[in-house]
Amino acid sequence: MGPNDVFVIASNNKGKIDEFKTLLSPAKIIPQSEIVQLEVDETGSTFFENALLKARGVAEFTNHNVIADDSGLIVPGLNNEPGLKSARYASDDASDDENKEKLKSEMRRLGFKEMPAYFVCVLVMIASKDDPLPLYVEGRSNGTIKTKSIGDQGFGYDDMFYPDGYSESFASINPLTKLRLSHRGIAFAALKDRLK
Ligand code: IMP
Repeated sequence: MGPNDVFVIASNNKGKIDEFKTLLSPAKIIPQSEIVQLEVDETGSTFFENALLKARGVAEFTNHNVIADDSGLIVPGLNNEPGLKSARYASDDASDDENKEKLKSEMRRLGFKEMPAYFVCVLVMIASKDDPLPLYVEGRSNGTIKTKSIGDQGFGYDDMFYPDGYSESFASINPLTKLRLSHRGIAFAALKDRLK
């Protein structure tokens, strides 16, 4: 991956775009917002389907390779919630704070201060809208979610997720360490490997 490579990122999430820029450096990254104003409906029933829907939605408007990710937090002790609905856990247009509050209240309702959890990220890359062979990779990051939040970096559920082996949360740890440990970082390492 070099400075002449260009990838369009099918996401409107600023936190994710920032991570994509670091992870794909020195390639040129074009956020979806510079190409089209679009919010793709995530109607799939798997992370794979949703990532492909997002990539295809944006590929209609560009000739560059498009990368989309679908990611989420899975808490096995809560029937795998928030899962596919991680961005919309509290309601369709919920903020990160509202989603975290809902997760904390579910944990408290069951009497837990912490629970095992993991993040997953599925990345899909397509060369065109009709690409018959999308490239898929995935990454997973294991840890614990706690009702106690620490740190103010990152996004989503970062301040309540403590990766295995660390006493800090994804929101208090060095951002480059988060990228190395995170589901998205692991998926990107696999993608880079496949693109070699
Ligand atoms: P989507 O992939 O855009 O559907 O959204 C996934 C949602 O999962 C995000 O809005 C966050 O709530 C959560 N999520 C995914 N990756 C991370 C992460 O690295 N940190 C914290 N939350 C994340």
